[in-house]
Amino acid sequence: MKTCPRCQIELKEQSFGDLRVDMCPTCEGSWWEDEDDELGQVMRLEDPIKALEGSDLAPILVQDKTPGTSLDAPAACPVCSKNMDRYRYLMISEIWLDRCPDHGIWLDDGELSAIVDYFAKSQDMELDPVASARLKEKLREIAARHKPEGGFKAWMGSLVGRILGIE
Ligand SMILES: [Zn+2]
Ligand SMILES: [Zn+2]
Repeated sequence: MKTCPRCQIELKEQSFGDLRVDMCPTCEGSWWEDEDDELGQVMRLEDPIKALEGSDLAPILVQDKTPGTSLDAPAACPVCSKNMDRYRYLMISEIWLDRCPDHGIWLDDGELSAIVDYFAKSQDMELDPVASARLKEKLREIAARHKPEGGFKAWMGSLVGRILGIE
């Protein structure tokens, strides 16, 4: 069984098309096993919010439930119970998500709508200098850690491709 990182109760499996997504019936947080694949399938829909509205996952859209614990408190991965990493969605947004590098992404109530919204806006957003500097620094950091095969440029190309869903 998978446990809600906020309420410590069992997550319930919900269906959305072919996807099975675990949701907490109390705080309406949701657990996505893979950012590119599972969550990506939803993000790449033409109108993810509309598609989710009629589904069993509709409760996760509106932030109307607060968990009994702070969202800034360390949250345990529903699968391995290790504390998840906090990270900024798309590296520069103000939306902080929780991720286990081995098992998936945790979205608190309403966060899916926030990232869908941000993603849509980011399509024609001009980066302000602070965000742009932060992004460059972050990318250099990641490149230094992974030492991409084929060099930095090729790696950037494939990363951009993945973000845009054209790979
Ligand atoms: Zn919960
Ligand atoms: Zn884990």
